[in-house]
Amino acid sequence: MSGQDRYPLLEISIGKFVHNATEILSRCAAQGISVAGVVKGYAAFPELASALSRCGASQLASSRIRHLAELRRAGLPGPYMLLRIPMISELRDVVDQADYSLQSDLATLRALQDECLAQNKKHKVILMADLGDLREGFWHADELVRACVEVEEELSMVELAGVGTNLGCYGAIQPTPEKMHALLGIARRVEAAIGRKLEIVSGGATSSYTLVHWNTMPEGINHLRIGEGISLAYDLPVDWGIEDMDYLHQDVYTLKAQVIEVREKPSYPQGTFCIDAFGGKPVFTDRGIRKRALVAVGRADVADIHRLMPRAAGIEVLGGSSDHTILDVENYPGELRAGDIVEFDLNYTTQLFLMLSPDVIKRLVA
Ligand SMILES: *Cc1c(COP(=O)(O)O)cnc(C)c1O
Repeated sequence: MSGQDRYPLLEISIGKFVHNATEILSRCAAQGISVAGVVKGYAAFPELASALSRCGASQLASSRIRHLAELRRAGLPGPYMLLRIPMISELRDVVDQADYSLQSDLATLRALQDECLAQNKKHKVILMADLGDLREGFWHADELVRACVEVEEELSMVELAGVGTNLGCYGAIQPTPEKMHALLGIARRVEAAIGRKLEIVSGGATSSYTLVHWNTMPEGINHLRIGEGISLAYDLPVDWGIEDMDYLHQDVYTLKAQVIEVREKPSYPQGTFCIDAFGGKPVFTDRGIRKRALVAVGRADVADIHRLMPRAAGIEVLGGSSDHTILDVENYPGELRAGDIVEFDLNYTTQLFLMLSPDVIKRLVA
């Protein structure tokens, strides 16, 4: 432990991030697929975003316009893509800051045309088809095709860049070749109706990358929007159990938290039960006296401390509060004491919150 370091410290390996981006983008490129690099999971951390550009991402993308504006201010060239279908109240910023946006509502598209006219600036849109995951997107293909025709023929400042879909989010629906063929069918109908080819047929997010990995992505899907698969690379090999994805590093991030207390205590609270700090009624199992360590990071930093994954064997997250995480270290072979550092792997939620916490120091490492 270096006496100078401050904690909690989130180390981000730029080398591992670039490695993952290169592996994923090159496999996509080999199958004719360009990739929007999605920066929302790490609050558009500029060094990571600019690495994505260098690795050949075709756009930098986020759900939040603020992220796009920050990267623009940092001097990154873009082009920029807004992922969350916009609020009508933010269309001024959409036209000002984003080059592309995903869309699923005709009233919004018409208001977008007005805003483009007001700013005398064109804007490209991708109309979303809902193929069963039940978040955003047109449900009926006919309605989507009609909307595309209206954009093409009547909204002079709004350019129809293409169509897209999103899977594996709300409804946990798996992207399959069949779903991709459904999207291609819609794309071909739109092309027939407008009499030209679409620039983009966007097949989804990290979960759709599985089809590139397995070589089962149908030809014609020419765009994906990938965030988590590059920065965490955890979801697919671990949650999906895809074993031969070992070309990705899962430890781009390391959370280092400092131990503030180590003590043997009962595992069952003593006294009359009321409620915990969050209004919950937790259930405890009596495992006798156990050695525990407190580290100085909590729900205010990571939201869900149970998603923190201690890297060392023999350490288990028991729970915690806004500012503490309580670890069971009874089976940890080493000797922990106050001042020591415990390392954790992250998942999507913990990454998201830690990057936003002003109390967490972020440091790029090789
Ligand atoms: C967040 C998001 C993505 C990227 O998702 P990952 O799982 O991080 O790759 C892609 N498309 C849309 C619409 C999103 O909101």
